[in-house]
Amino acid sequence: MLRPAAALLLLLAACASAPPPSPVSGAPKMYILLWFDTEDYLLPASDDAALRLAEFLTKEGVPTTFKVVGEKARTLERRGRRDVIDALKKHEIGYHSNWHSVHPTPAQYLSTLGWDEGVEEFIRREGPGVEDVKRIFGQAPSCYGQPGSSWGPQSFGAMRKLGIPVYLDSGSHVDFDRGPLWYCGILTLFRLEYTLRTGLGGAEEFEKAKKNFSAAREKLLKDGGGAAHIFYHPCEWVHKQFWDGVNFADGANPPREEWKLPPQKSAEETRVAFETFEAYIRWIKTFPDVKFITARDALKLYEDRSRGLVWDDCDLQRMSNFENDEVHGGGGVAASEIFCLLNQRLLKQGLLPHSQQRTSLSLAETPLGPTGVPTVMAGPVKATWSQVMRTAADVQAYVERHGRIPNTVWLGSTGVTPESYLVALGNLLPYLIREELPREVEFRPAKLLAEKFVAQDSPKIWGWLFPKGFHAPEMMELARHQAWTIKYAVPHPEALK
Ligand SMILES: [Zn+2]
Repeated sequence: MLRPAAALLLLLAACASAPPPSPVSGAPKMYILLWFDTEDYLLPASDDAALRLAEFLTKEGVPTTFKVVGEKARTLERRGRRDVIDALKKHEIGYHSNWHSVHPTPAQYLSTLGWDEGVEEFIRREGPGVEDVKRIFGQAPSCYGQPGSSWGPQSFGAMRKLGIPVYLDSGSHVDFDRGPLWYCGILTLFRLEYTLRTGLGGAEEFEKAKKNFSAAREKLLKDGGGAAHIFYHPCEWVHKQFWDGVNFADGANPPREEWKLPPQKSAEETRVAFETFEAYIRWIKTFPDVKFITARDALKLYEDRSRGLVWDDCDLQRMSNFENDEVHGGGGVAASEIFCLLNQRLLKQGLLPHSQQRTSLSLAETPLGPTGVPTVMAGPVKATWSQVMRTAADVQAYVERHGRIPNTVWLGSTGVTPESYLVALGNLLPYLIREELPREVEFRPAKLLAEKFVAQDSPKIWGWLFPKGFHAPEMMELARHQAWTIKYAVPHPEALK
């Protein structure tokens, strides 16, 4: 008998293009992730803005995530702004890179590296900032989000090693039907359907924001509830232009002594900005079905409950519907997880009597997708049963050693793609269940459809921070291979009660 969570995951695995699931119980809720990229380490007035925002949100009892830049944390310390640090640490602290816009930024330095070097380079450059933020705020950052559009997939591998469980930001590099997802084993709240800011310029903008918010709330609740972003930067209350826009645009990288302060808003403009924001937050608080959550709350809400589940043949059959040699991926179970479960199942065929197979298939971590040079298959390949069993043992050892799906699955001297291997495993399953072992197994070229959720390299995913003509096609290909890890983030509203 399937437990409800397993049943839901399987349903999602089977119909990968279905809409995201509705909360299972209780009245639908709208979850607002309110976060601030706390990054301007140039304009001292931005410290005061962060202080006022943090104190206001504490007073209003609104849980907030402040994603702090390493150099911003160190600057607050140098300037003796204990008051700002103490006010921020009453909220949740996230991480927003070590130097933000000083070049090279993450997408640049990751763009010429493979997976493992990229992970290590991210840790070398960004790790010291994580330590500073931890030391200065007395809490480990709950989340990371890239500076500007400087996104790279290796940062997800680094987050696993740095113990940062949530990716919280906005961008278009991964777009999973505008919903929350798991990517590389990290809860990813990135390209959400709604970002519900108010402009900070007074009554007219407030009224417009109320209209947008109301329409979004109505739609989200009708669809069973869901999450939306509201994000800002504390410096927006005091500047007319971003601190890094005036110094680091288009790849410019002046020395520290030439960094310019951005132009500042007048006292009156700042007053109106605070009043507008504060009125907006107080207005949102009047809705009983709207709940502010932090990144760590989101981790509870979207907890991955596939860990600890035990999978049987019936579960595996439902996940292994690979019509037209296409692996959907992006269901309730990631393609890399289905790959591992089916390979475990095949291996057990040779090792255990059938009755013992049913209780021993489970998932530990989500294996990463392939990280090396993809294999090209000219056409179908056949292998003997003996070779397939030897290969399955080899694949299992590879996944255990490297924590990822192999680029090439070796059938002796012949290599096939992991997609092809996965489809063949799915086709083999009915034979395994009937204990009719074929003499020969066919491996046909196959496709992973979930790759469509990761953007192609193009100027529009990068933006103003980069030198003109910046491209990262190999890095975005690496990112597409990680579509093997994509799955729905299934909400469990009762976890936040
Ligand atoms: Zn930023």
